[in-house]
Amino acid sequence: MRDVNIFLKGFRRFQHHYFDRNPELFDRLFTEGQRPRALMVACCDSRCDPGVLTDSEPGDLFVVRNVANLVPPYIQATDYAGTTSAIAFAICNLGVEHVIVMGHSRCGGIRALLENRSPECDEERLIAKWLGIAEDARQRVLKELPGKPHATQARACEQASILESLENLMSYPWISRRVNEGALALHGWYFDMENGALMQYDSDAGEFRVMDLHLEGCEKHSEEPLLPQRLFKNWESNTPL
Ligand SMILES: [Zn+2]
Repeated sequence: MRDVNIFLKGFRRFQHHYFDRNPELFDRLFTEGQRPRALMVACCDSRCDPGVLTDSEPGDLFVVRNVANLVPPYIQATDYAGTTSAIAFAICNLGVEHVIVMGHSRCGGIRALLENRSPECDEERLIAKWLGIAEDARQRVLKELPGKPHATQARACEQASILESLENLMSYPWISRRVNEGALALHGWYFDMENGALMQYDSDAGEFRVMDLHLEGCEKHSEEPLLPQRLFKNWESNTPL
């Protein structure tokens, strides 16, 4: 069994190189509380840490992580709802102005969704039930890309499930109202791990496109509310195969 000392050494580096050198930042966060500018729904995958990928400072980004970065459709408070309650807290209590759903390539959750094997034990049923949130995305991919290589279908499903989650976000009245009032913007991002690139869903083009990371372009993107009303048209055009 591998030990966890690497993380203790990492925390020491954080203390010496970050905490001790940023007393004003941490004093403000401690005394005034957090006021993050965005909520990110990301995958649990250890290769896709939102704080690392966006080089954020403490207090900038409110993060919810789950298997395959999914948002369930509207539900009332009848069950334990970890993802949804965190989203509600970020939007309604902290007042974030942006929600980013960030998927990624080589997602194990989406791969399992595509394989669609019958669960044989409790733990597999837990995962399968959760991944069922993106079943419509799987069906769309199988219908529109039949017989395509698995990698092509997987990438399409990873991206289609982001749109599924954006659509599900809009099913919550307290979210759609804020979006329609211009107080909240939704974004669909995709981390292309192989190429180290960040893509964003372009609702006019109906596809994910590599983001312009120059400052001017970033500001333009972040101010545009995104309503995922179009079907995802060009799955194959941005696949590496
Ligand atoms: Zn994943």
